[in-house]
Amino acid sequence: MTTVSYVYPNVASLKQRGGFDERWRLAREHGCAYIEVPADFIKNRTEVRATGLDLCAVPDRAAIEKLYDGDSVFRDEAHSILHTEPSLRRTDGYGISAQAPLKWYDAGWRERFVQMVLDVSDVLGRPADLIEVHPGDRRNTTQDIIGSVVSLLDAYEGAFGMRPAVMLENRTGQCIQEGREIRKLADDVAARGDDLLASFGCVLDVQQLHTVTKERCFASFDLVPPAFLRGFHIHRKHGTPSVGDPIPWERICAKIGTFDHPVIINPEVHHKNKVGETIGFCRGMVGGGKPSPQW
Ligand SMILES: [Zn+2]
Repeated sequence: MTTVSYVYPNVASLKQRGGFDERWRLAREHGCAYIEVPADFIKNRTEVRATGLDLCAVPDRAAIEKLYDGDSVFRDEAHSILHTEPSLRRTDGYGISAQAPLKWYDAGWRERFVQMVLDVSDVLGRPADLIEVHPGDRRNTTQDIIGSVVSLLDAYEGAFGMRPAVMLENRTGQCIQEGREIRKLADDVAARGDDLLASFGCVLDVQQLHTVTKERCFASFDLVPPAFLRGFHIHRKHGTPSVGDPIPWERICAKIGTFDHPVIINPEVHHKNKVGETIGFCRGMVGGGKPSPQW
C-alpha cells in the first residue's frame, strides 16, 4: 500500500506570495506534510504596479524581493512545493489580457525560468522539497522539457546543496495533457537513466485528465507507468469531489492505493473551508498515509 503525504493547497483567501507561516500552521492542523508556494509569473495589475514589469513577465530578483514576504517559521521548518507558472490567461484590469508562454525550447527563456526559481527559494530562505512545472504549448517537445528539468535540478543543487523532486503536471490544451503523452515523457525520462527518474515524475491533475479524455479517463490514466506517477491533484472543478462525479474516482484511487512508492496528494480546492472535507475524501478513497515529507 502506498504512503500518501498531503499538501495544503494555495486557497484563495490566503495572501498570495505570502502568509507562509499561516499556511504551515494550517497544514499542520490538517495533517499535511507540505504547503504550496505560488511561483507564477507577473499575474495581475497589483504585481505590474509593484514591480514595473509587464503582465506575464518572468519576475527578476528585484521583483521577487518586492513580491514575496519571507516568514520565520517557514524558514526554520516548513516543507514546501513550489508551483511554477501554468501558462494561465491573465488580465491586467485595464483590458489587457495575456498568456505567458512556457518556452522550454528557448535557452534564454529557460535560464530566466531557472533563475526565478532559485531567486524565489533564496528570498524565502529555504529550498523547496518539490517543484511543479507545466508542459507548455506544442512547440515544446519532451526532450526540451527533460533538458530544462535537468538544468533546473543541477542549478538548484548548485545553489542549495540538495536535489528537489520535480513533477510535471498535465494541462488541458498543452503538449502533455493525457496518459499517452505522459507515458511518452516517462519513457523518455527513463531512457536518460535512473538518476533522472528518481528526481522527475508526474503530478497528475485528475480533473484535467478527465476534461480531456471523458469516458476514456481510466484507460488513459492506466497507460502511465505507476512508478512515474508521484503525485495527484484531487478536486472537482476546484471544489470537493464525490463518488457521484463523472470522474472514475473509485477505480483511480483504488489503483493509487496499490502503488508501492510514496505519493503526494494536493487537494486543490479554492476555498479554505473545503480543504478538510477534500482531504477526508482522499483519505477514504486512497488511504491515510503518514504526514511526513517523502522527498
Ligand atoms: Zn492542478
